Amino acid sequence: MNYGYFCGVLYCGMCGGKYTTFNILNVSANGVEVPNISYRCNQKARFGEVSCNSPDINHAEMERVFYKYVQNINDISTDYTVDFAESEKKLDTLKNRKSQIMEQYVKGIIDFDEYKNMIELFNKNFGVAKNELQIKNERFLHKDIIQSLKRNWKYLGNTDKSIFIQRFIKSITITASSSMVKVNSVEFLTGERSKNELQKCEPPRRGSVRKILRER
Ligand SMILES: [Zn+2]
Repeated sequence: MNYGYFCGVLYCGMCGGKYTTFNILNVSANGVEVPNISYRCNQKARFGEVSCNSPDINHAEMERVFYKYVQNINDISTDYTVDFAESEKKLDTLKNRKSQIMEQYVKGIIDFDEYKNMIELFNKNFGVAKNELQIKNERFLHKDIIQSLKRNWKYLGNTDKSIFIQRFIKSITITASSSMVKVNSVEFLTGERSKNELQKCEPPRRGSVRKILRER
């Protein structure tokens, strides 16, 4: 079952909680079972409306606002200009500097304490420069993801959408009110997702519902 594919990455902008799926199996007039997927703030599902009163969101509505948000992400070509050359140059300069420091030490131009201090400073600067490059790499990756989302999302089936979200999206934070649902932000994954993160989507049970469709 991949219907409720936003589950696991969807966060409530009102309380910070995660959303869980809330699935009802409707039976149509001719007896066909039609899953009706909704998302419910986990705080609310567990502790009731006192802890969070954000309304449930129907999957189709969530899909609509997500797609709209993706289409409206600002012109990424300007937001995500990435200058790799500059960072690479900085790292090369630093590496040269390290060779110089070692040479000076070997030749007896600087003593061990000076050498140690200079290497310490080098390590610090090198760390900062490497980090900068890492951030640029991530931005570059995100630019690709956003472009791919914009172009392909509407052509993907449920399974592919589910895979895409699990692979590339860290979180989608939304604010829901009785009249509308708004996507506040979408964060992209920068590393591996922790293993259990996506498996917390147990549908809450409700006695009055005839049957609850379980995920998986
Ligand atoms: Zn909430």
